[in-house]
Amino acid sequence: MIEFKTIESESTFLDPRKEFSPATVRFQVRVDPLTGRTCHFSHFGAIKPQKLDLPAYLSPEVKGFCPFCGQHREKATPKFTPDIVPEGRLTRGEALLIPNLFPYDIHSGVVIMTDDHVVGLQGFTKDRLLDSFSLGIDFLRRIADADTSLPYHLMTWNYMPPSGGGLVHPHQQYFATAFPGNQFMDELAAARRFYARHGQNYWRTLIEREREGSKRYIGRTGRGHWLVPFTCLGMLGDILCIFPDVFSIHDLSEEHIEGLVAGLEKVFRFYREAGVFSFNASLSLGPADQGYFSSCFRIVPRTFLNMRDFAPDLNFFQAILSEPICVVLPEDLCKDVKPYFE
Ligand SMILES: [Zn+2]
Repeated sequence: MIEFKTIESESTFLDPRKEFSPATVRFQVRVDPLTGRTCHFSHFGAIKPQKLDLPAYLSPEVKGFCPFCGQHREKATPKFTPDIVPEGRLTRGEALLIPNLFPYDIHSGVVIMTDDHVVGLQGFTKDRLLDSFSLGIDFLRRIADADTSLPYHLMTWNYMPPSGGGLVHPHQQYFATAFPGNQFMDELAAARRFYARHGQNYWRTLIEREREGSKRYIGRTGRGHWLVPFTCLGMLGDILCIFPDVFSIHDLSEEHIEGLVAGLEKVFRFYREAGVFSFNASLSLGPADQGYFSSCFRIVPRTFLNMRDFAPDLNFFQAILSEPICVVLPEDLCKDVKPYFE
């Protein structure tokens, strides 16, 4: 039912590093078993995540004005209209929910995760993560009830400048939309076709299949299953957490959030050891009244290619060809992450 298709190939040239003797370099193209989209795997091991100087982000000339820092929050951040959040803003622990000053859709919130302006991965304590996710997901539930015309719900997170995040101060976006992006819609349509053809939820079938083979299955925390996908979106490889029994925002319980946070703490421990300082992450939630598109959390490391000219890790492949290119094989990434889940 699920086909993992790899096209292996190689390129030969005369290598100036070896007195122009022939050298052969292998690469792969993989076809995503759900969407049919391709992904290049090449340049293996050539790109390493770069270390960020976190304390430097606190120096006044770099920091500039931060609307999320304590004394500015009250004056510089917006408030919700009373029909959505009568209190204007919501808090839970250190987390503060505000509307996005640059909204992505009709209902668009931001969770400021911490009081501190600069937080390294070790600073994301269980409480900070639980409070932020719970607050944001409560907001998604609230807007799902208030406006049923926007069927898809998303948490998105840019962490640190290589990820494209405009503010260093930790924050996540939560919004409802009818247009959750091409990747999301491709996966949704393909999962619907898979269900029509096989009568099964693709994601549940994938988990069973990957657990047997175990080359990309990382482990389980609560009701979430962690694995490395067969094709990745990021250059350094993705990690997914699939919740097979969650389809829409209405199915997501506190127990799921606890499982997500428990696994994320392990991923962060791995990232700290691996030197990852930045990432993009998302939690996608499908429309109500369907049982074929499970909720997925995806995290993708990001880095500058070097700290000399800050070349980004995205290039013509992603910007123009819409083709991911990855320098790590998913099976190798899984082998590295798995010990943190045992
Ligand atoms: Zn700040």
